[in-house]
Amino acid sequence: MFTAQQLIERNKQSQPADFIDQAQLQSLVDSAAEPSASQLEKLMAKAEKAKGLSTEEVASLLAVEDPDKLDLLFATARKVKEKIYGKRIVLFAPLYLSNYCVNSCAYCAFHRGNKRLQRKRLSLDEVAQQVKILERMGHKRLAVEAGEDPENCPLDYVLDVIQTIYSTTDGNGSIRRVNVNIAATTVEEYRKLHEAGIGTYILFQETYHRPTYERVHPAGPKSLYDWHTTAMDRAMEGGCDDVGLGVLFGLYDYRFEVLALLAHNQHLEEKYGVGCHTISVPRIRPAQSVDLSRVVRYPVSEDEFRKIVAILRLAVPYTGLILSTRERPALRDELLSLGISQVSAASSTGVGGYEEKKEAECETAQFLPDDTRSVDQVLASICSEGYLPSYCTACYRQGRTGEHFMDLAKDGEIQTFCQPNAILTFKEYLLDYAPPSLVELGEETIARQLEGIPNQQLREETKRRLLQLEQGERDLFF
Ligand code: SF4
Ligand code: SF4
Repeated sequence: MFTAQQLIERNKQSQPADFIDQAQLQSLVDSAAEPSASQLEKLMAKAEKAKGLSTEEVASLLAVEDPDKLDLLFATARKVKEKIYGKRIVLFAPLYLSNYCVNSCAYCAFHRGNKRLQRKRLSLDEVAQQVKILERMGHKRLAVEAGEDPENCPLDYVLDVIQTIYSTTDGNGSIRRVNVNIAATTVEEYRKLHEAGIGTYILFQETYHRPTYERVHPAGPKSLYDWHTTAMDRAMEGGCDDVGLGVLFGLYDYRFEVLALLAHNQHLEEKYGVGCHTISVPRIRPAQSVDLSRVVRYPVSEDEFRKIVAILRLAVPYTGLILSTRERPALRDELLSLGISQVSAASSTGVGGYEEKKEAECETAQFLPDDTRSVDQVLASICSEGYLPSYCTACYRQGRTGEHFMDLAKDGEIQTFCQPNAILTFKEYLLDYAPPSLVELGEETIARQLEGIPNQQLREETKRRLLQLEQGERDLFF
């Protein structure tokens, strides 16, 4: 087992992250001008084809400030969102395993200097208890999260957790996809995660801006920018071909971060034939012992945040966009139409938090969420907005991952599977977990979406499978 100091020495051996060209990105940000009305129309006509945009085009969109131009940008993002994703919104929940951490990230309550935090790591029995609670909430897809600590949270523990999660059931409840968000590691360890059957490997860059990165990560193995930024290369080499990127908005200029995210994605596409599977868009939230006034030097307003989501939707139309409970409910609902395709619901950010329930008072939490609605409330809201909640995990289980997935996604063919699978998995939720007040709204949603399946054969087969679910079968998917 490595000590934290040995990890630092190991991490110094990293390849350079030269695919993030700091000077070039900064110069793009500095030189970008707001497009004229006719330039924007042309750009939007291109974006509407849902084939993505160049870095220069994105830079000019990031410079848009004029309200009328923003309206056009948002309208186009809505069209592309609908074209690629239809109405389905995928749900997941985070599961925090351990808040031990040897790093000193200035924005996170788990940082090693936080003496007030109650440190805790779940035992495997506690993992199973948490999973059963999550299954009783209807969840099928989890993102496991842990601080970096080679002693208290080694990879073997994470592997045991994954196996425990997949083998823990509760009535009809089971977890069908485990995504993993743990510290940057080696190719060998990524290979073990891949072999354990993880869905997406998620690692947020936090900030791509090297000086800011070094400022907010003053010590610990994560303090080495190159090691952290090349993590996805090692993950791909270890066989994890579904990877999730993200930045923490508020640390540095959002325009630089968006361009760097896209440069990272492009690097993965060029080198491994497949870009990232998802992009997460967290904004910094209050957290225990974190002085936001010191950390947040580039606050991102809600208007800017809307713009970020819409631009990402247009830049990488086929990449899932994930929104957590860091945002307030009304904004979360609004962002569904602008580009978000996946949301968490009723999240706890504490270790063992699904028992403690009282998130705001949780002594073990990473940050405080802004959306504290129950799963039923989130689902009702998704339905009321005209969307279709989905607990689908089919692609991963059908081997539609990595390049194979992206080929289908880029052609828009993935929609063929998404909509019927959303209908079937939401029906399972209504049968097994929904209160009567949600059943009526849910059934109306399903009836409407069923008629929207364009292929008649597929529509009929979905209806047949809905009947099978009513007769007690579960886990049917295309
Ligand atoms: Fe540790 Fe991650 Fe928090 Fe940094 S962000 S202190 S690495 S848990
Ligand atoms: Fe996601 Fe695939 Fe299911 Fe569509 S069919 S929701 S892409 S897992």
